Amino acid sequence: MFGPLAGELIKQMVGGPDTNLFPAPYAPDSVTEFLAKVEKGEAKLIPPIKTPDKFRGKIMYERDKCIGCQLCIKVCSPGAIEFIKEEKKIKIYVSRCIFCSQCNDICPVHCLHMSEDFLIADYDPYAPNLMVK
Ligand code: SF4
Ligand code: SF4
Repeated sequence: MFGPLAGELIKQMVGGPDTNLFPAPYAPDSVTEFLAKVEKGEAKLIPPIKTPDKFRGKIMYERDKCIGCQLCIKVCSPGAIEFIKEEKKIKIYVSRCIFCSQCNDICPVHCLHMSEDFLIADYDPYAPNLMVK
């Protein structure tokens, strides 16, 4: 009756959640006050689930290893990587990144990596947390 969905159905019934729960047991009246309580140890956050193998989170860059070949720029379809000519290094605009990992795969010196960090939402696309250099 369930055909190819049977395996997925069983996995969902016996396995843990695939998405993160809301980080507080109940929606707090004030997020700021709730986070202040967490800092004081008076409240606890529900931790996020473990990211799956080969998860593609925020890109990391080992600047010292980079040889400035620009291959990553050639394969980055959304144009998220900029070359800094004077320094022969790159700068990555994470807000433009589509997490395809093409730059990571092509880098000849393996100085780009997809991390497990996915909590990167921000109102400002140029926020320091979204600029990798
Ligand atoms: S992961 Fe893809 S989109 Fe993001 S910087 Fe690398 S090539 Fe560009
Ligand atoms: S592919 Fe690697 S070595 Fe080449 S510019 Fe990009 S990060 Fe640097």
